[in-house]
Amino acid sequence: MSVQANFGKIKNFIDGEWVEETGVEYVPLYNPSTGDVIGEVPLSSPETSLKAVESSYQAYDGWRKLPISKRMNYLYDMRKAMLDNAEELAVAIAVDQAKHISEARGEVARVIEIIEAACAIPAVIQGDTLEGISGNINGRVIRQPLGVFGGIAPFNFPGLVFGWFVPFAIGVGNTFIFKPSTQSPVFMQKMGDIFNEIGLPKGVVNIVHGNRSVPEVWYENPMISGVCLVGSTPTAKKIAERCGQGAKRSMLLGGAKNFLVAMEDVQMDVFIENYLHSCYGSAGQRCLAGSIVAAVPEIHDQLVKRIIEVSKEVVIGDAMDPDVFYGPVISAGAKKKIEEYIEIGVKEGANLVLDGRNPQVAEKNKNGYFVGPTIFTDVTPEMTIAKEEIFGPVVAVMKVGCINSALKLIREQNFGNGACIFTQNLYYTEKFIAEADVGMVGVNVGICAPHPYLPFGGIKESHLGTDKVQGKDGIDFFTQNKIATVRFSPPTGQYVAGEESPKTGQAPADPKAVRSCVAQ
Ligand code: NAD
Repeated sequence: MSVQANFGKIKNFIDGEWVEETGVEYVPLYNPSTGDVIGEVPLSSPETSLKAVESSYQAYDGWRKLPISKRMNYLYDMRKAMLDNAEELAVAIAVDQAKHISEARGEVARVIEIIEAACAIPAVIQGDTLEGISGNINGRVIRQPLGVFGGIAPFNFPGLVFGWFVPFAIGVGNTFIFKPSTQSPVFMQKMGDIFNEIGLPKGVVNIVHGNRSVPEVWYENPMISGVCLVGSTPTAKKIAERCGQGAKRSMLLGGAKNFLVAMEDVQMDVFIENYLHSCYGSAGQRCLAGSIVAAVPEIHDQLVKRIIEVSKEVVIGDAMDPDVFYGPVISAGAKKKIEEYIEIGVKEGANLVLDGRNPQVAEKNKNGYFVGPTIFTDVTPEMTIAKEEIFGPVVAVMKVGCINSALKLIREQNFGNGACIFTQNLYYTEKFIAEADVGMVGVNVGICAPHPYLPFGGIKESHLGTDKVQGKDGIDFFTQNKIATVRFSPPTGQYVAGEESPKTGQAPADPKAVRSCVAQ
């Protein structure tokens, strides 16, 4: 497939139409593999953002009242259209986010699986009934949509985050406004075309590009019911504050620092393969990327030797090159920040055993934003590189005395997204699952991303809010409970047999009577 050279002015998708934003600043869109400018992204105005809110608000009533099977049919059609356009969607991710094309294909495949999981909504959304609260009173719990949701995506998963938010949100009957990252908007341009191709009613999903001024009009707007974000923890905290002020429901997934713990019985080949994918996949720009390896003394030296060997063989280069293992990081700024962290690691006394700065790449990629595999050993918990999210292919190796020391390190992290253990030992496995202070745990896997039928999300500073994305949590977040208490009487209006008709307004004859305020 040929890659589109220039996307020109990226447009907003409002009320089913592609609209070019005028009178605002545009920021350049780069191909991080080459440094070439491949388009311009509007920093859309609050007025445009408001138009999207009004469109989704107008669409809500009709959309929520559609028979649920019809809403599911739109999801089936979306899935089919994504399958038909899978390669084009993958290229869209590889070109601006510069995720390697093989991983971009994996991201698209995962979004399709999430839509399949969301098609189970009619079975999972069903409420409960409590029959016989009294002779003629039943209670019922129903789950309903809330209205319009706004969602904000990070640069690193332009497709996946659409999958986490939109199929579940609209499947249960809400409408949605999606704000992509200005650094990776192209995937949603393709999705807007798909929405039109499948005839999705206008306003059910709007797409508005820009920075924080797009969501700024959501927080205190009565037409908006909730806000969700996947992004860094500082951004999540700011949005949590604004959602609190506007009394909006929120689900905010933040940053991470994930451990790979290797015990003395680690299967070294399994570890090495998982290490490569976990630490260097997507150039380390994944919320579940392994960034700390904690190894017990029995295998520490052998493991360090192996990871240095295999890391030296990792080929980096253009995200579209099939012979490459991983591509560039997202921007010149991200590259600089990662290099600064490497410098800090050196200054704070960690041992830089593999330096990924200034890697060799092909001539056509000489202006791309590349960082090679980087490994520090002798890292201690108080070092900056052990605590902060670097979001690049930089690994900190720590020697831990035993499983308890590894668990203590994990517990003391501010983040709590994922942690994986490599062992064959049942005791270590169960103890790790029970005690690792994170939201997602892996055993002999390097990336503990749960399947779409299960919830995904961390704890502590990796996740603000309660519900997580996808799985049953995805449905819970995008719905609210309503509880109905129903008294039924015969058509004559008489009370049912055996029930006394009430003596309206009179004090009970029995001075010790207990009068309940609830229906009984
Ligand atoms: P970011 O926080 O810089 O930006 C994320 C999104 O928020 C962007 O769309 C951005 O425009 C918007 N934004 C920034 N400041 C805002 C503000 N004050 N108000 C409203 N919106 C604002 O993050 P990023 O660099 O795009 O993405 C990388 C981060 O995302 C990493 O920290 C990574 O760990 C995290 N992430 C987390 C998960 C997870 O599941 N927990 C998944 C993917 C990425």
